[in-house]
Amino acid sequence: MDMSDRCDFRQWLASQGLKLTAVRLAVLEILGAASCALRAKEILEVIRSRRRVNKVTVYRILEDFCNRGMVRRLSLEGRVSHYELACEHRPPHPHFQCHTCREVQCLEPVPLTRVWTELQGPVGNRADHIDIRVEGLCHKCREEA
Ligand SMILES: [Zn+2]
Ligand SMILES: [Zn+2]
Ligand SMILES: [Zn+2]
Repeated sequence: MDMSDRCDFRQWLASQGLKLTAVRLAVLEILGAASCALRAKEILEVIRSRRRVNKVTVYRILEDFCNRGMVRRLSLEGRVSHYELACEHRPPHPHFQCHTCREVQCLEPVPLTRVWTELQGPVGNRADHIDIRVEGLCHKCREEA
């Protein structure tokens, strides 16, 4: 997936009525530069390599971004949530999760029209979203094995 992001994060924050702060901007920039979905802890580590920041501040910002639909929290196996940008350039897509290192890779969006139609079930169901997660051994872990 092409992870180069064309979003103007400053403008995005302004359009959400959010004050531009260094930490908010850092969270968006880190997610925007990531080639895979990140754990909150990983986002925190990158910010901490640049500045002092309270863990709670970062977690609250992530929570707020999720509530606003700016960031997606992926529903995956395991207790640790993974996050990714949910901007207009990044429509929902399937994920690959390695069962050894737990890394979550973003896969290309694929047309799921047929699956979507079939999986809604009986007429009258209203399906809102679909998550596809492929599990296996990632290429890095395969090389080490
Ligand atoms: Zn974008
Ligand atoms: Zn792996
Ligand atoms: Zn993804």
